[in-house]
Amino acid sequence: MAMKDIVNGVPRYRHFINGQWTDATVKEWIEVENPATGAIIATVPKGSADDADRALVAAQAAQPAWEALPPIERANLLKALARLILENRDRLSRLVVAEQGKPLQEARGEIEGTALYLNHAAEEARRITGDIIPSDMADEQIWIQRVAHGVVVGLTAWNYPAALMARKMGPALLAGNTIVIKSHEGTPLSALEIAQLSVQADFPPGVLNAVSGTGEGLGAALVKHPIPRLITLTGSVRAGKEIFRSAADDLKLLRLELGGKAPFIVAEDADIGAAVRAAILSRFENCGQICICNERMYVHEKIADEFLDKFVKAVKGLKVGDPLAMVDVGPKFSAPELDKVERMVNDAVASGAQILTGGKRLTEGDHARGHWYEPTVLTATDNRMAIMQDEVFGPVVPVMKVTDFDEGLRLANESRYGLSAYVFTKDMRRMMRLVRELKFGEIYVNRPGGDAVHAHHAGLRHSGIGGEDGKYGLDAYFQKKTIYVNYA
Ligand code: NAD
Repeated sequence: MAMKDIVNGVPRYRHFINGQWTDATVKEWIEVENPATGAIIATVPKGSADDADRALVAAQAAQPAWEALPPIERANLLKALARLILENRDRLSRLVVAEQGKPLQEARGEIEGTALYLNHAAEEARRITGDIIPSDMADEQIWIQRVAHGVVVGLTAWNYPAALMARKMGPALLAGNTIVIKSHEGTPLSALEIAQLSVQADFPPGVLNAVSGTGEGLGAALVKHPIPRLITLTGSVRAGKEIFRSAADDLKLLRLELGGKAPFIVAEDADIGAAVRAAILSRFENCGQICICNERMYVHEKIADEFLDKFVKAVKGLKVGDPLAMVDVGPKFSAPELDKVERMVNDAVASGAQILTGGKRLTEGDHARGHWYEPTVLTATDNRMAIMQDEVFGPVVPVMKVTDFDEGLRLANESRYGLSAYVFTKDMRRMMRLVRELKFGEIYVNRPGGDAVHAHHAGLRHSGIGGEDGKYGLDAYFQKKTIYVNYA
């Protein structure tokens, strides 16, 4: 069967299970909407527990032969897929724009990042090392070897539908696991199209399976199923907690990459121009829908007026519109997401916040259809306000003045979250203090956000348990076995 048919004028996709496109057991379909226009651009299966079972059984059957391949052969397949993704860069970027809404130039960056995650994983093929250590017994060695877990389930968020898939799939497959991927139900198309390219790359059937459905339906069924040993989620704290509970019965291994509420501290000695540019980029990229986005600002009172003057001017200059045109900010991803942002701003104002710019939905002209919100800056007076504590995940940032660096650090740490943080200062002693005193897993000093594929992306506290990328991210996809070899 083909990946999709046209039904009622739009593509209807199938699940990708065991190298085949299938919808034999699908009874319901989910509509996929373009956030910039509100148009329905496709439908995908609303997968069931049966679909979860079929995909996991296929992944389990394929796993031993996959793990038995020399790692370089697995790596060559990942590289072939990365090449095909880059050859299809324009088509895939436009698909990301259509299902997710980010501006086209950002979607191109996402597709390049998708290929990079696969290539980076592939580069590790010749570095899957273990340990040989001496035994306390004569004529004995102890081997510690890294082997695959078996079947991995990957659940991804809607903000980077292609890149998040590759971030999990690359290291999982390189390590010798097979995988069942479920994208967010609002952005399932890029993953299905990448699965199609895996056929062209000659992936063995069952190694990569891509299914679609809701979190509470198919997602929960994948987590509950006895086959997968490791569940890796990128998503909300809510989903992370649900999965933690559900996985407890089988003591499954979890990697949970969850939400953030990054503080952005600007000290009185900061390069103000650089801080303004970084604060803009780190808040408004992808319409503020990045887990590491600048979510709350603490600006030293000595430079606050100058900073805010420049910052608000720059925010007012942002172009919001059709993501296929050269704009700075696209639409919010969905109607419920837009409602949430509007509610949070209104509540903040009711609690005493003042709007410096923005503060409303955009509904006229080019913004008549789709989900649009003005880039917004607020002043906040109390760190306990919901706008300072809850993730906005949209084009809105609250700013508080602080009297010194220590107050900035203290308020930054007063949070349930612990993913990323930003600090602008020229004082080396302050930078050194951050390592121990700022309780966040990814700290950007004097620069905007953007993590490196060979570093480590990990949230502390409610931002997750786990961590991805680089050698520590890859290590999570292996279990260790210890073998005592006595040759006396
Ligand atoms: P979400 O939690 O609603 O969904 C994430 C994925 O989990 C989806 O595929 C969804 O269908 C599935 N899911 C949801 N509930 C489930 C359940 N009970 N059982 C099994 N699967 C379930 O999150 P979202 O709205 O797609 O993403 C936004 C969130 O993701 C934000 O909080 C953002 O900060 C976070 N995020 C974190 C990172 C990171 O690396 N830490 C990266 C991107 C996004």
